[in-house]
Amino acid sequence: MSTPPSVETVVVDGLALAQEIRKELSEAVGRHVAAGRRAPKLAVVLVGDDPASASYIKGKRRACERVGMDSSETKLPETATQQEVLDTVAALNADDGVDGILVQVPLPKGLDPKEVALAIDPAKDVDGLNPTNAGLLLQGTADLVACTPLGCMEILRRFDIPLEGADAVVIGRSDIVGKPVAVLLQQANATVTQCHSRTKDLREHCRRADVIVAAVGVPKLVQRDWVKPGAAVIDVGVTVVDGVLTGDVDTEGVQGVAKIVTPHRRGVGPMTITMLLRNTLTAYERRKGL
Ligand code: NAP
Repeated sequence: MSTPPSVETVVVDGLALAQEIRKELSEAVGRHVAAGRRAPKLAVVLVGDDPASASYIKGKRRACERVGMDSSETKLPETATQQEVLDTVAALNADDGVDGILVQVPLPKGLDPKEVALAIDPAKDVDGLNPTNAGLLLQGTADLVACTPLGCMEILRRFDIPLEGADAVVIGRSDIVGKPVAVLLQQANATVTQCHSRTKDLREHCRRADVIVAAVGVPKLVQRDWVKPGAAVIDVGVTVVDGVLTGDVDTEGVQGVAKIVTPHRRGVGPMTITMLLRNTLTAYERRKGL
């Protein structure tokens, strides 16, 4: 499709949105502290020396600091055993001063992330990856849900994208993004089609969608002629191509077609960290019975 109907496309400023929400979180933390309570605390665990993971952790700790939350970092070497990681998690589970636990993924080869997620106390599972929380999400009663899906939903909510009866296509079915975001969309009364690497004619599914969430990791997979005029397009994907960050959506290409599109920079990323902060506050309030 060369010249589709002209729609005024809003490129979502995820950072501005994130800052708005962080201000609300900061005020909530301030109220707890003013009432004489300690600040909420996030504990992060980094295994190995992957520079990208180290940088993500730094960003998360800085974000905590800015809203007045405490954080701690436990570093384990690349050679750490599964038992050492599990022991670290057990110690954080037992520490009453810790509200949220996040073990940065990917873990070094040979370590089992599912067993680690299972070991985290569900009440402190701010990544929403413990099977108890994943199960509660399916039943619609989870307090702690994976952060990126929450960020996607918050963007749709804040831009007043109607979900009731909408056709939504989620590309990707990972435990951390694709599956939970599909569940959340369905709970918002969208009709959800979940696509993946074996889906036949992905383009045709997308062309019918009012909402597309792309969580794949294939650069510029979603092209202009995949998008229905007026659709909301959420690009979760992040891939480095020749040293440059690229998303799953051809952001420039969908201009004039999509109603909103999130860019791969300052799009979903800042919202993911913000939802981690929100989950930490939720975990703190639930644990304290507030
Ligand atoms: P993942 O575990 O690798 O899952 C990718 C999914 O995409 C799988 O379900 C896979 O299908 C599907 N897929 C792969 N190639 C496909 C194709 N050609 N057509 C249709 N589906 C295809 O990845 P993830 O953890 O969900 O992350 C997805 C992307 O989001 C990555 O780029 C990641 O870096 C990014 N991400 C960004 C944020 C953020 O905050 N911005 C947070 C998390 C992840 P199968 O199941 O059939 O293999």
